[in-house]
Amino acid sequence: MSKFNSVSLGPPIEVFELNRAYNEDTFKNKVNLGVGAYRTENGEPWVLPVVRQAEKALANDESLNKEYLPVLGLEAFTKAASLLLLGANSSAIKENRVFGIQSLSGTGCLKIGAEFLHSQLGCSVVYYPKPTWENHKLLFRNTGYTELREYRYWSDKNRGLDIKGFLEDLNQAPENAVIILHAVAHNPTGCDPTEEEWAQIADVMEARKLFCFFDCAYQGFSSGDIDKDAKAVRYFESRGFEMFIAQSFAKNFGLYNERVGNLTVVVKDNALIPHLKSQFTLNIRGMYSNPPSHGARIIAYILNNVDLCEQWKNNVKTMADRLIQMRKELRGALERLRAPGNWEHITNQIGMFSYTGLDEAQSEYMVKKHHIYMLKSGRMSMAGLTSKNVEYVASAVVDTLT
Ligand code: PMP
Repeated sequence: MSKFNSVSLGPPIEVFELNRAYNEDTFKNKVNLGVGAYRTENGEPWVLPVVRQAEKALANDESLNKEYLPVLGLEAFTKAASLLLLGANSSAIKENRVFGIQSLSGTGCLKIGAEFLHSQLGCSVVYYPKPTWENHKLLFRNTGYTELREYRYWSDKNRGLDIKGFLEDLNQAPENAVIILHAVAHNPTGCDPTEEEWAQIADVMEARKLFCFFDCAYQGFSSGDIDKDAKAVRYFESRGFEMFIAQSFAKNFGLYNERVGNLTVVVKDNALIPHLKSQFTLNIRGMYSNPPSHGARIIAYILNNVDLCEQWKNNVKTMADRLIQMRKELRGALERLRAPGNWEHITNQIGMFSYTGLDEAQSEYMVKKHHIYMLKSGRMSMAGLTSKNVEYVASAVVDTLT
């Protein structure tokens, strides 16, 4: 009789399960539109040239060793990362009201932020958009949050933002509720608030005294411009919000498996920073003690060098431009093949994903019949499209809808 007899089999994680099924599929024309990872025009993963260059330089630097990093991470990285997000004109940076904590990619930043708010401020209510990245719920639940609530975000009818429902739900939220806001390129809908809508959201957040926790996983992936893609975060900062921002460098540096992220913390009173840092230190010490160094060193090396930083921005633009081009080609092919319905939303949406409007049964049919792997929600990763497979994908959509 095993001690573990009582352990039940948990449900699989959809996106990883889909990847596994794709890898096992022997069909020649299979297409992977599941996982949100960038692919080249040949359908290959891409190690950014500037990252390769940095890695070579670091490998040859005999002064580097394998000692532990500090619990809160490499300062040359966290400082550069927070600056990249908030920009040189940020008053919070000028007034020393900002610090960063290196963590295990975007997920790790959300985790240490959620843990801190729960243990230090007693937060147990969190709101995230409906729909959202599927890990938000699991992460906050596992951290001890008891009220996991959704705010309205996507309107199926208008295939766009339900700003009215969004604001109504925020207005009902209790004081100090943690509100997860996708900073840019909302996953899975590819639909962000406009500047006016962000202002309305900020008004409610301020009036209702809600805590703003930005999730920033795609800076640069929407417009191809790092500064433009930071505008929602910078706007909140300029209005004086205290906030956390989980920055992931998985996508914009292509460093998925290096697990490098930065939790940017903005406070009103810089005298409190040592207190916050000391509590974060205790939380992290008890979780994983200190972060890995490789990814952080790469990013610090690039961001702190003007030429390399310029090259990196060009690499980001290359990725964003290809995704925009794929949107155009997909919409073009759907319209040419007379797929029923209107396909404007494909090019209106931004970032890595398109929320196609296909329902669960239709999405499953795309997988089973056509070997086109996509989430049940109808989300397709534009990164999995190439000029060679886009026609096949569009014709499969036509078959599915007719
Ligand atoms: N938030 C959102 C909205 C995401 O889409 C992702 C990546 N899929 C993440 C956070 C974090 O991913 P990672 O931990 O790989 O940085």
